[in-house]
Amino acid sequence: MQSDFVAAVSHEFRTPLTSMRLITEALEDGRIPDPGRLTDSYHALSRATGRLQRLVDDLLDFRRMESGAVEYRMKVVDAADTVRKVVEEFRKEVEDRGFRLHVHVDGAVRIQADEGALSRALWNLLDNAAKYSGDSHDIDVWLEHGGTQVEVSVKDRGIGIPPEERAQLFDRFYRAENAKRAGIQGTGIGLAMVAQIAAAHGGKISVMSELGRGSTFTMSLPVEHA
Ligand code: ADP
Repeated sequence: MQSDFVAAVSHEFRTPLTSMRLITEALEDGRIPDPGRLTDSYHALSRATGRLQRLVDDLLDFRRMESGAVEYRMKVVDAADTVRKVVEEFRKEVEDRGFRLHVHVDGAVRIQADEGALSRALWNLLDNAAKYSGDSHDIDVWLEHGGTQVEVSVKDRGIGIPPEERAQLFDRFYRAENAKRAGIQGTGIGLAMVAQIAAAHGGKISVMSELGRGSTFTMSLPVEHA
């Protein structure tokens, strides 16, 4: 699994690096004179840079989590506000690829959270929803709260997960057979990180899925009582 991981990380770096190289070369040679296409090129550069940045941040954070060295800075935050902010950021990232994000969030819900960590966990779920979306481009995000728990769910209509593999998805480096077979790149650390972040918040992550029809990942977190 370790050597698979190194190969996977190298692959993940290669994709944004290749687009950065191609775009910068085209810009350097003055091959993009049209102002509209110039703007598109800068957007693409910015997306590739963001992707690299998140990859490095995830890898470093993952190491720190593994060694127990991550310090969470908890404070009272509005989970609804955090979810809306992350979704809007993510929308910009994927709308060019035709993804439609449907957000079902209203009101405010106070929770104790490290907003950066929580945002990264949600981003990972959204990123997976897009990555494993198959032919569908619809992603739904819900925030629901009962008395003591708030649940944040991300639903896709993608490739789904074989039932016998669902329990292992949250183990580090684990990747399901159907994802590998479809040639979808990944490092297998995203969900392990989401599970760690959820646990650090006194919560948990769970999944419901139908093979070939899609998956819903739900993060449950305790609500802060005034
Ligand atoms: P990866 O970098 O491989 O995406 P993750 O830890 O985020 O790593 O996910 C682990 C595995 O769980 C993935 O390789 C994939 O097999 C499966 N998986 C995660 N999210 C989804 C999803 N939304 N739909 C289908 N499979 C998923």
